[in-house]
Amino acid sequence: MASALHGERRRKLLNHRKGHSMKALVFHKPSDIRVETVPDPKIKDPQDVIVKVTRTAICGSDLHIFNGYVPQVRSFIPGHEFVGVVEEVGQAVTKLRVGDRVVVPFPIACGICWFCSHGWPTQCSASNSNYGPEGGVLTQKGAALFGFTDLYGGYDGGQAELVRVPFANFGPRKIPDELSFQDVHFLSDIFPTGWAAAEWGGVSAGDTVAVFGAGPVGIMAMKSAWLKGAGRVFAVDLLPYRLKKAAETANVETINSAEQDPAEVLRAATDGRGADVCIDAVGLECHRSVITKVADVVIHHQAGNIDVLQTALNCVRRGGRLSCVGVYSTKYDNFPLGQLMDKGVQFMSGQAPVHNFIDKLLELTMQGKVVTKDVITHEMRLDQAPEAYKMFNEKKDDCVKVVLTP
Ligand code: NAD
Ligand code: ZN
Repeated sequence: MASALHGERRRKLLNHRKGHSMKALVFHKPSDIRVETVPDPKIKDPQDVIVKVTRTAICGSDLHIFNGYVPQVRSFIPGHEFVGVVEEVGQAVTKLRVGDRVVVPFPIACGICWFCSHGWPTQCSASNSNYGPEGGVLTQKGAALFGFTDLYGGYDGGQAELVRVPFANFGPRKIPDELSFQDVHFLSDIFPTGWAAAEWGGVSAGDTVAVFGAGPVGIMAMKSAWLKGAGRVFAVDLLPYRLKKAAETANVETINSAEQDPAEVLRAATDGRGADVCIDAVGLECHRSVITKVADVVIHHQAGNIDVLQTALNCVRRGGRLSCVGVYSTKYDNFPLGQLMDKGVQFMSGQAPVHNFIDKLLELTMQGKVVTKDVITHEMRLDQAPEAYKMFNEKKDDCVKVVLTP
Protein backbone atom coordinates (compact mmCIF):
# COMPACT_ATOMS: atom_id res chain seq x y z
CA MET A 1 0.00 0.00 0.00
CA ALA A 2 2.80 2.37 1.01
CA SER A 3 4.60 1.74 -2.24
CA ALA A 4 1.34 2.12 -4.20
CA LEU A 5 0.83 5.53 -2.59
CA HIS A 6 4.41 6.39 -3.25
CA GLY A 7 3.95 5.40 -6.90
CA GLU A 8 0.78 7.46 -7.11
CA ARG A 9 2.47 10.55 -5.61
CA ARG A 10 5.37 10.12 -7.95
CA ARG A 11 3.03 9.87 -10.92
CA LYS A 12 1.28 13.08 -9.89
CA LEU A 13 4.59 14.86 -9.36
CA LEU A 14 5.82 13.81 -12.77
CA ASN A 15 2.47 14.80 -14.21
CA HIS A 16 2.83 18.23 -12.69
CA ARG A 17 6.28 18.65 -14.17
CA LYS A 18 5.61 17.34 -17.63
CA GLY A 19 1.90 18.14 -17.98
CA HIS A 20 1.25 14.56 -18.99
CA SER A 21 1.91 11.10 -17.77
CA MET A 22 -0.92 8.68 -18.20
CA LYS A 23 -0.61 5.52 -20.20
CA ALA A 24 -3.26 4.76 -22.78
CA LEU A 25 -3.87 2.70 -25.87
CA VAL A 26 -3.90 5.05 -28.85
CA PHE A 27 -5.61 4.16 -32.14
CA HIS A 28 -3.75 5.75 -35.09
CA LYS A 29 -5.24 3.94 -38.05
CA PRO A 30 -6.71 0.51 -38.73
CA SER A 31 -4.36 -2.20 -37.39
CA ASP A 32 -2.09 0.50 -35.88
CA ILE A 33 -2.67 0.81 -32.15
CA ARG A 34 0.06 1.59 -29.61
CA VAL A 35 0.35 2.06 -25.87
CA GLU A 36 1.65 5.59 -25.34
CA THR A 37 2.09 8.31 -22.75
CA VAL A 38 -0.52 10.99 -23.29
CA PRO A 39 -1.90 14.00 -21.39
CA ASP A 40 -4.10 13.14 -18.44
CA PRO A 41 -7.78 13.92 -19.07
CA LYS A 42 -9.11 17.03 -17.36
CA ILE A 43 -12.51 18.08 -16.07
CA LYS A 44 -14.04 20.12 -18.92
CA ASP A 45 -17.59 20.46 -17.68
CA PRO A 46 -18.88 20.78 -14.08
CA GLN A 47 -20.80 17.50 -14.54
CA ASP A 48 -17.62 15.52 -15.36
CA VAL A 49 -15.68 13.13 -13.19
CA ILE A 50 -12.26 11.63 -13.84
CA VAL A 51 -12.13 7.88 -13.22
CA LYS A 52 -8.97 5.94 -12.50
CA VAL A 53 -9.52 2.75 -14.47
CA THR A 54 -8.99 -0.54 -12.62
CA ARG A 55 -10.25 -2.94 -15.31
CA THR A 56 -10.99 -2.38 -18.98
CA ALA A 57 -12.09 -4.85 -21.67
CA ILE A 58 -11.86 -5.28 -25.43
CA CYS A 59 -15.20 -5.57 -27.21
CA GLY A 60 -16.23 -6.94 -30.61
CA SER A 61 -17.24 -3.32 -31.33
CA ASP A 62 -13.62 -2.18 -30.86
CA LEU A 63 -12.66 -4.62 -33.62
CA HIS A 64 -14.91 -2.78 -36.10
CA ILE A 65 -12.71 0.31 -35.61
CA PHE A 66 -9.48 -1.72 -35.51
CA ASN A 67 -10.44 -3.39 -38.81
CA GLY A 68 -11.54 -0.11 -40.44
CA TYR A 69 -15.28 -0.85 -40.74
CA VAL A 70 -16.16 2.14 -38.56
CA PRO A 71 -14.02 4.98 -39.90
CA GLN A 72 -11.77 7.21 -37.80
CA VAL A 73 -9.17 9.66 -39.11
CA ARG A 74 -7.82 11.36 -35.97
CA SER A 75 -5.83 9.45 -33.32
CA PHE A 76 -7.86 8.75 -30.19
CA ILE A 77 -8.13 6.44 -27.17
CA PRO A 78 -10.57 3.54 -27.65
CA GLY A 79 -12.39 1.51 -25.01
CA HIS A 80 -15.93 1.64 -23.64
CA GLU A 81 -16.06 -1.17 -21.08
CA PHE A 82 -14.40 -0.04 -17.87
CA VAL A 83 -14.72 0.17 -14.09
CA GLY A 84 -12.65 2.21 -11.68
CA VAL A 85 -12.37 4.68 -8.84
CA VAL A 86 -13.47 8.32 -8.97
CA GLU A 87 -10.33 10.44 -8.81
CA GLU A 88 -11.73 13.94 -9.31
CA VAL A 89 -15.25 15.41 -9.44
CA GLY A 90 -16.66 18.46 -11.22
CA GLN A 91 -18.50 21.13 -9.24
CA ALA A 92 -21.98 20.08 -10.36
CA VAL A 93 -21.53 16.41 -9.52
CA THR A 94 -23.79 15.53 -6.59
CA LYS A 95 -24.02 11.74 -6.85
CA LEU A 96 -20.36 10.77 -6.64
CA ARG A 97 -17.35 11.51 -4.45
CA VAL A 98 -13.63 10.98 -4.80
CA GLY A 99 -12.89 7.36 -3.91
CA ASP A 100 -16.22 5.91 -5.06
CA ARG A 101 -15.92 2.66 -7.00
CA VAL A 102 -17.99 2.89 -10.18
CA VAL A 103 -19.14 0.98 -13.24
CA VAL A 104 -19.86 3.22 -16.25
CA PRO A 105 -22.42 2.57 -19.05
CA PHE A 106 -20.81 2.74 -22.50
CA PRO A 107 -23.34 5.21 -24.02
CA ILE A 108 -22.88 8.83 -22.93
CA ALA A 109 -26.28 10.37 -22.17
CA CYS A 110 -27.27 13.67 -20.57
CA GLY A 111 -30.28 12.36 -18.67
CA ILE A 112 -32.50 15.37 -19.37
CA CYS A 113 -33.08 15.80 -23.13
CA TRP A 114 -36.34 14.59 -24.74
CA PHE A 115 -34.83 11.19 -25.64
CA CYS A 116 -33.22 10.58 -22.25
CA SER A 117 -36.42 11.51 -20.45
CA HIS A 118 -38.43 9.18 -22.70
CA GLY A 119 -36.22 6.15 -22.01
CA TRP A 120 -33.86 6.42 -24.99
CA PRO A 121 -30.39 7.20 -23.58
CA THR A 122 -28.72 5.85 -26.74
CA GLN A 123 -30.57 8.48 -28.78
CA CYS A 124 -29.52 11.35 -26.44
CA SER A 125 -29.44 14.57 -28.44
CA ALA A 126 -27.02 16.41 -26.13
CA SER A 127 -23.88 14.26 -25.91
CA ASN A 128 -22.78 13.98 -29.56
CA SER A 129 -21.80 16.91 -31.77
CA ASN A 130 -22.48 14.60 -34.74
CA TYR A 131 -26.04 14.00 -33.58
CA GLY A 132 -28.76 14.14 -36.22
CA PRO A 133 -32.44 13.16 -36.45
CA GLU A 134 -32.09 11.40 -39.80
CA GLY A 135 -29.46 8.85 -38.78
CA GLY A 136 -27.66 6.26 -40.83
CA VAL A 137 -25.23 8.70 -42.44
CA LEU A 138 -22.03 10.37 -41.26
CA THR A 139 -22.74 13.34 -38.94
CA GLN A 140 -26.22 11.98 -38.24
CA LYS A 141 -25.58 9.67 -35.31
CA GLY A 142 -27.26 9.07 -31.95
CA ALA A 143 -25.81 9.41 -28.46
CA ALA A 144 -22.06 9.57 -28.01
CA LEU A 145 -20.25 6.39 -26.97
CA PHE A 146 -16.98 6.20 -25.03
CA GLY A 147 -13.96 5.60 -27.24
CA PHE A 148 -16.00 5.01 -30.36
CA THR A 149 -14.69 7.44 -33.01
CA ASP A 150 -15.57 11.03 -33.87
CA LEU A 151 -18.87 9.86 -35.36
CA TYR A 152 -19.96 8.98 -31.86
CA GLY A 153 -18.81 12.14 -30.16
CA GLY A 154 -15.01 11.78 -30.25
CA TYR A 155 -14.72 11.08 -26.50
CA ASP A 156 -11.58 9.29 -25.42
CA GLY A 157 -12.27 5.85 -24.03
CA GLY A 158 -11.30 3.72 -21.10
CA GLN A 159 -8.40 1.63 -22.44
CA ALA A 160 -6.28 3.99 -20.39
CA GLU A 161 -5.20 4.72 -16.83
CA LEU A 162 -7.67 7.59 -16.56
CA VAL A 163 -10.85 8.55 -18.37
CA ARG A 164 -13.10 11.61 -18.37
CA VAL A 165 -16.72 10.63 -17.71
CA PRO A 166 -19.28 13.29 -18.69
CA PHE A 167 -22.82 13.58 -17.23
CA ALA A 168 -21.62 11.83 -14.11
CA ASN A 169 -24.91 12.31 -12.25
CA PHE A 170 -26.67 10.14 -14.85
CA GLY A 171 -24.29 7.43 -16.08
CA PRO A 172 -21.93 5.88 -13.52
CA ARG A 173 -23.28 3.53 -10.85
CA LYS A 174 -21.61 3.02 -7.46
CA ILE A 175 -20.45 -0.55 -6.92
CA PRO A 176 -21.84 -2.10 -3.71
CA ASP A 177 -19.11 -3.04 -1.19
CA GLU A 178 -19.99 -6.74 -1.45
CA LEU A 179 -19.11 -6.88 -5.15
CA SER A 180 -15.70 -6.76 -6.78
CA PHE A 181 -14.77 -4.81 -9.91
CA GLN A 182 -14.65 -8.14 -11.70
CA ASP A 183 -18.19 -9.06 -10.57
CA VAL A 184 -19.74 -5.94 -12.14
CA HIS A 185 -17.37 -5.02 -14.96
CA PHE A 186 -19.63 -6.35 -17.70
CA LEU A 187 -22.56 -4.21 -16.56
CA SER A 188 -20.79 -1.49 -18.56
CA ASP A 189 -21.81 -3.12 -21.84
CA ILE A 190 -22.07 -6.80 -22.70
CA PHE A 191 -24.55 -7.93 -20.03
CA PRO A 192 -27.02 -5.04 -20.61
CA THR A 193 -26.48 -5.54 -24.37
CA GLY A 194 -27.32 -9.24 -24.13
CA TRP A 195 -30.28 -8.30 -21.94
CA ALA A 196 -31.45 -5.73 -24.50
CA ALA A 197 -31.30 -8.43 -27.18
CA ALA A 198 -33.54 -10.72 -25.13
CA GLU A 199 -35.85 -7.86 -24.07
CA TRP A 200 -36.25 -6.61 -27.65
CA GLY A 201 -36.85 -10.19 -28.78
CA GLY A 202 -39.69 -10.34 -26.23
CA VAL A 203 -38.30 -13.56 -24.76
CA SER A 204 -40.93 -15.06 -22.49
CA ALA A 205 -41.70 -18.28 -20.64
CA GLY A 206 -41.07 -21.42 -22.65
CA ASP A 207 -39.71 -19.69 -25.77
CA THR A 208 -37.18 -21.40 -28.00
CA VAL A 209 -34.40 -18.85 -28.50
CA ALA A 210 -31.52 -19.05 -31.01
CA VAL A 211 -28.56 -16.74 -30.50
CA PHE A 212 -26.25 -16.26 -33.51
CA GLY A 213 -22.70 -15.56 -32.35
CA ALA A 214 -21.23 -17.25 -29.29
CA GLY A 215 -18.99 -14.32 -28.45
CA PRO A 216 -19.21 -12.41 -25.17
CA VAL A 217 -22.32 -10.51 -26.32
CA GLY A 218 -24.06 -13.65 -27.57
CA ILE A 219 -23.28 -15.51 -24.34
CA MET A 220 -24.80 -12.63 -22.32
CA ALA A 221 -27.91 -12.80 -24.54
CA MET A 222 -28.13 -16.55 -23.79
CA LYS A 223 -27.84 -15.95 -20.04
CA SER A 224 -30.50 -13.22 -20.34
CA ALA A 225 -32.83 -15.52 -22.28
CA TRP A 226 -32.73 -18.04 -19.40
CA LEU A 227 -33.31 -15.27 -16.84
CA LYS A 228 -36.42 -14.31 -18.83
CA GLY A 229 -37.77 -17.86 -18.70
CA ALA A 230 -36.79 -19.33 -22.08
CA GLY A 231 -37.59 -23.02 -22.53
CA ARG A 232 -34.69 -23.91 -24.82
CA VAL A 233 -31.68 -21.80 -25.80
CA PHE A 234 -29.42 -22.55 -28.77
CA ALA A 235 -26.04 -21.02 -29.64
CA VAL A 236 -25.11 -20.84 -33.32
CA ASP A 237 -21.47 -20.25 -34.34
CA LEU A 238 -18.79 -21.72 -36.59
CA LEU A 239 -15.99 -21.87 -34.04
CA PRO A 240 -16.11 -25.00 -31.86
CA TYR A 241 -14.24 -23.36 -28.95
CA ARG A 242 -16.77 -20.51 -28.82
CA LEU A 243 -19.66 -23.00 -28.80
CA LYS A 244 -17.93 -24.94 -26.01
CA LYS A 245 -17.58 -21.76 -23.95
CA ALA A 246 -21.27 -20.95 -24.53
CA ALA A 247 -22.30 -24.44 -23.42
CA GLU A 248 -20.12 -24.17 -20.28
CA THR A 249 -21.12 -20.67 -19.23
CA ALA A 250 -24.73 -20.44 -20.45
CA ASN A 251 -25.86 -24.06 -20.44
CA VAL A 252 -27.10 -23.94 -24.04
CA GLU A 253 -27.52 -26.43 -26.87
CA THR A 254 -25.09 -25.74 -29.68
CA ILE A 255 -25.30 -25.66 -33.47
CA ASN A 256 -22.09 -25.51 -35.48
CA SER A 257 -23.30 -23.81 -38.64
CA ALA A 258 -20.21 -24.98 -40.55
CA GLU A 259 -21.55 -28.53 -40.13
CA GLN A 260 -25.31 -28.25 -39.75
CA ASP A 261 -28.00 -26.01 -41.21
CA PRO A 262 -29.32 -24.08 -38.20
CA ALA A 263 -32.76 -23.69 -39.84
CA GLU A 264 -33.10 -27.47 -40.08
CA VAL A 265 -32.03 -28.06 -36.50
CA LEU A 266 -34.28 -25.33 -35.10
CA ARG A 267 -37.31 -26.41 -37.13
CA ALA A 268 -36.78 -30.01 -36.06
CA ALA A 269 -36.85 -28.79 -32.45
CA THR A 270 -40.10 -26.84 -32.91
CA ASP A 271 -42.48 -29.04 -34.94
CA GLY A 272 -41.23 -27.44 -38.13
CA ARG A 273 -42.00 -23.84 -37.06
CA GLY A 274 -38.58 -22.34 -36.29
CA ALA A 275 -37.35 -20.49 -33.20
CA ASP A 276 -39.73 -18.11 -31.41
CA VAL A 277 -36.89 -15.61 -31.07
CA CYS A 278 -33.69 -15.21 -33.07
CA ILE A 279 -30.92 -12.87 -31.93
CA ASP A 280 -28.10 -11.56 -34.14
CA ALA A 281 -25.06 -11.09 -31.90
CA VAL A 282 -22.54 -11.16 -34.76
CA GLY A 283 -23.07 -8.08 -36.93
CA LEU A 284 -21.30 -6.97 -40.07
CA GLU A 285 -18.01 -8.85 -39.56
CA CYS A 286 -19.36 -12.37 -40.05
CA HIS A 287 -16.90 -15.04 -41.21
CA ARG A 288 -16.73 -14.93 -45.01
CA SER A 289 -14.42 -15.62 -47.94
CA VAL A 290 -12.03 -13.06 -49.40
CA ILE A 291 -14.12 -13.02 -52.59
CA THR A 292 -17.22 -12.12 -50.57
CA LYS A 293 -15.25 -9.43 -48.73
CA VAL A 294 -14.23 -7.88 -52.03
CA ALA A 295 -17.79 -8.11 -53.40
CA ASP A 296 -19.15 -6.43 -50.25
CA VAL A 297 -17.01 -3.39 -51.00
CA VAL A 298 -16.73 -3.30 -54.78
CA ILE A 299 -20.18 -4.48 -55.85
CA HIS A 300 -22.38 -3.66 -52.89
CA HIS A 301 -20.53 -0.62 -51.45
CA GLN A 302 -21.32 -1.84 -47.94
CA ALA A 303 -19.36 -2.48 -44.75
CA GLY A 304 -19.38 -6.24 -44.18
CA ASN A 305 -22.68 -7.95 -44.90
CA ILE A 306 -26.00 -9.11 -43.47
CA ASP A 307 -25.55 -12.88 -43.91
CA VAL A 308 -26.16 -13.57 -40.24
CA LEU A 309 -29.28 -11.41 -40.11
CA GLN A 310 -30.54 -13.28 -43.19
CA THR A 311 -29.89 -16.68 -41.60
CA ALA A 312 -31.56 -15.55 -38.38
CA LEU A 313 -34.63 -14.47 -40.35
CA ASN A 314 -34.71 -17.86 -42.10
CA CYS A 315 -34.61 -19.57 -38.70
CA VAL A 316 -37.27 -17.54 -36.86
CA ARG A 317 -40.84 -18.84 -36.96
CA ARG A 318 -43.67 -17.00 -38.69
CA GLY A 319 -45.00 -14.35 -36.30
CA GLY A 320 -41.76 -14.57 -34.31
CA ARG A 321 -39.28 -11.94 -33.14
CA LEU A 322 -35.89 -11.02 -34.51
CA SER A 323 -33.60 -8.80 -32.50
CA CYS A 324 -30.22 -7.52 -33.52
CA VAL A 325 -27.44 -6.18 -31.32
CA GLY A 326 -24.68 -7.06 -33.79
CA VAL A 327 -23.38 -3.80 -35.27
CA TYR A 328 -24.19 -2.78 -38.87
CA SER A 329 -22.95 0.53 -40.18
CA THR A 330 -24.02 1.26 -43.78
CA LYS A 331 -26.88 0.52 -46.20
CA TYR A 332 -27.03 -3.14 -47.25
CA ASP A 333 -28.11 -4.63 -50.57
CA ASN A 334 -30.54 -7.54 -50.49
CA PHE A 335 -32.10 -6.61 -47.16
CA PRO A 336 -34.90 -9.24 -46.97
CA LEU A 337 -37.83 -6.89 -46.48
CA GLY A 338 -40.26 -9.13 -48.38
CA GLN A 339 -39.44 -12.11 -46.18
CA LEU A 340 -39.74 -10.01 -43.02
CA MET A 341 -43.20 -8.90 -44.14
CA ASP A 342 -44.37 -12.32 -45.37
CA LYS A 343 -43.39 -13.95 -42.08
CA GLY A 344 -44.89 -11.15 -39.96
CA VAL A 345 -41.71 -10.92 -37.92
CA GLN A 346 -41.11 -8.14 -35.37
CA PHE A 347 -37.66 -6.63 -35.75
CA MET A 348 -35.72 -4.43 -33.36
CA SER A 349 -32.11 -3.28 -33.33
CA GLY A 350 -29.89 -0.67 -31.71
CA GLN A 351 -27.08 0.22 -29.39
CA ALA A 352 -28.05 -1.06 -25.96
CA PRO A 353 -29.72 1.46 -23.62
CA VAL A 354 -27.50 0.36 -20.73
CA HIS A 355 -28.85 3.06 -18.38
CA ASN A 356 -32.33 1.48 -18.54
CA PHE A 357 -31.21 -1.98 -17.43
CA ILE A 358 -28.09 -1.57 -15.33
CA ASP A 359 -29.79 -1.22 -11.92
CA LYS A 360 -31.94 -4.31 -12.38
CA LEU A 361 -28.95 -6.29 -13.65
CA LEU A 362 -26.82 -5.10 -10.73
CA GLU A 363 -29.53 -6.42 -8.42
CA LEU A 364 -29.59 -9.80 -10.19
CA THR A 365 -25.79 -9.91 -9.82
CA MET A 366 -26.04 -9.02 -6.10
CA GLN A 367 -28.62 -11.78 -5.60
CA GLY A 368 -26.28 -14.29 -7.23
CA LYS A 369 -28.85 -15.04 -9.96
CA VAL A 370 -26.25 -14.52 -12.66
CA VAL A 371 -22.48 -14.65 -13.01
CA THR A 372 -20.85 -12.80 -15.90
CA LYS A 373 -17.11 -12.97 -15.19
CA ASP A 374 -17.03 -16.58 -16.43
CA VAL A 375 -16.67 -15.39 -20.06
CA ILE A 376 -13.18 -14.03 -19.33
CA THR A 377 -10.43 -16.11 -20.93
CA HIS A 378 -7.50 -13.66 -20.75
CA GLU A 379 -6.36 -11.20 -18.08
CA MET A 380 -3.51 -9.04 -19.41
CA ARG A 381 -1.81 -5.71 -18.76
CA LEU A 382 -2.79 -2.55 -20.65
CA ASP A 383 0.77 -2.61 -22.06
CA GLN A 384 -0.19 -5.81 -23.86
CA ALA A 385 -3.26 -4.29 -25.54
CA PRO A 386 -1.91 -4.48 -29.11
CA GLU A 387 -1.20 -8.22 -28.85
CA ALA A 388 -4.51 -8.74 -27.04
CA TYR A 389 -6.42 -7.03 -29.88
CA LYS A 390 -4.65 -9.20 -32.42
CA MET A 391 -5.41 -12.40 -30.54
CA PHE A 392 -9.09 -11.49 -29.98
CA ASN A 393 -9.49 -10.36 -33.59
CA GLU A 394 -7.97 -13.55 -35.00
CA LYS A 395 -9.85 -15.72 -32.47
CA LYS A 396 -6.55 -17.29 -31.39
CA ASP A 397 -5.66 -19.11 -28.16
CA ASP A 398 -9.36 -19.86 -27.51
CA CYS A 399 -9.83 -16.18 -26.75
CA VAL A 400 -13.36 -15.15 -25.82
CA LYS A 401 -12.99 -12.07 -23.60
CA VAL A 402 -9.89 -10.10 -22.67
CA VAL A 403 -9.67 -7.91 -19.60
CA LEU A 404 -6.78 -5.43 -19.37
CA THR A 405 -5.41 -3.95 -16.17
CA PRO A 406 -3.74 -0.52 -16.39
P1 NAD B 1 -16.92 -11.40 -31.08
O1 NAD B 1 -16.19 -11.02 -32.30
O2 NAD B 1 -16.16 -11.89 -29.91
O3 NAD B 1 -18.01 -12.53 -31.40
C1 NAD B 1 -18.63 -12.69 -32.64
C2 NAD B 1 -18.94 -14.17 -32.81
O4 NAD B 1 -19.68 -14.33 -34.02
C3 NAD B 1 -17.70 -15.05 -32.93
O5 NAD B 1 -17.77 -16.12 -32.01
C4 NAD B 1 -17.76 -15.54 -34.38
O6 NAD B 1 -17.20 -16.83 -34.55
C5 NAD B 1 -19.27 -15.53 -34.62
N1 NAD B 1 -19.66 -15.56 -36.03
C6 NAD B 1 -19.06 -14.95 -37.10
N2 NAD B 1 -19.72 -15.25 -38.23
C7 NAD B 1 -20.78 -16.03 -37.88
C8 NAD B 1 -21.82 -16.64 -38.59
N3 NAD B 1 -21.93 -16.50 -39.90
N4 NAD B 1 -22.74 -17.37 -37.91
C9 NAD B 1 -22.64 -17.53 -36.56
N5 NAD B 1 -21.66 -16.97 -35.82
C10 NAD B 1 -20.75 -16.23 -36.47
O7 NAD B 1 -17.80 -10.12 -30.69
P2 NAD B 1 -18.70 -9.72 -29.41
O8 NAD B 1 -17.88 -8.90 -28.49
O9 NAD B 1 -19.43 -10.89 -28.87
O10 NAD B 1 -19.71 -8.72 -30.15
C11 NAD B 1 -20.66 -9.22 -31.08
C12 NAD B 1 -21.34 -8.10 -31.83
O11 NAD B 1 -22.08 -7.28 -30.91
C13 NAD B 1 -20.38 -7.14 -32.54
O12 NAD B 1 -20.94 -6.73 -33.77
C14 NAD B 1 -20.35 -5.95 -31.60
O13 NAD B 1 -20.01 -4.76 -32.26
C15 NAD B 1 -21.77 -5.92 -31.14
N6 NAD B 1 -22.06 -5.14 -29.93
C16 NAD B 1 -23.18 -4.40 -29.96
C17 NAD B 1 -23.57 -3.67 -28.86
C18 NAD B 1 -24.85 -2.92 -28.88
O14 NAD B 1 -25.11 -2.11 -28.00
N7 NAD B 1 -25.71 -3.15 -29.85
C19 NAD B 1 -22.77 -3.68 -27.71
C20 NAD B 1 -21.62 -4.47 -27.71
C21 NAD B 1 -21.27 -5.20 -28.84
ZN1 ZN C 1 -18.60 -3.20 -26.06
